[in-house]
Amino acid sequence: MKPNPSSATALLSAIRRAGVRQFDPIDFPVPRLMWPTRARALFSEPERYIARTRANPDYGKPGWTRDCGRRFHRGLDIAPLRAAPDGASVVVRFSDCATGREYPSEEPGFTPEDDVFAVFDGVIAACNADSDQSDLGIFAVVRHIMAGRCIHTLYAHLAGLCAAAGDTVVAGSLLGPMGRTSRSADARAWMAIAPHLHFEVIAPGGGAYDPLLFLQAGLPRETD
Ligand SMILES: [Zn+2]
Repeated sequence: MKPNPSSATALLSAIRRAGVRQFDPIDFPVPRLMWPTRARALFSEPERYIARTRANPDYGKPGWTRDCGRRFHRGLDIAPLRAAPDGASVVVRFSDCATGREYPSEEPGFTPEDDVFAVFDGVIAACNADSDQSDLGIFAVVRHIMAGRCIHTLYAHLAGLCAAAGDTVVAGSLLGPMGRTSRSADARAWMAIAPHLHFEVIAPGGGAYDPLLFLQAGLPRETD
């Protein structure tokens, strides 16, 4: 039975445990993966590959990288291959972590220019095409069998979807264009200044694997 598209957020809640505060150990051999976007600088220039803001160079990294180390980020935020100025500016609240002071800053906005691909063969477990349904905006979840485990990968904040729940995909299948969608206005503002793909790896029990370690283990080191 194919899931109803409107139940994508409920399906995700069933697959993915809320309140994760640490990563599960990657205790299986990660198979050879395909790149989740067109960017290839993960190993050569990680500072360019991972989204960052002017105030927080760790913004896109997994772990306790948000709100001066108070908020856990279970995803990896992958910067687009190219970002085009959108001609608008947004006001965000940066934090000075040394003093705890927050200050508003007006920053230029960018539109991501990249596409998003499944990293491994699988089946689309959930697709949300309504950007107002979730803080993750438009997203796709792919179910994989890896080393006998049922693992899901999540691709969030897309501009649109090229797949539907129940579709079979292979490593490298196009899931949709990178975007900056979210029902949260605050999240949309951050994505305007640092557009990205939010990429997660969901463990069998609903926890999370460190998506950076996962990609580093499975992607080819040579560029092109
Ligand atoms: Zn993220």
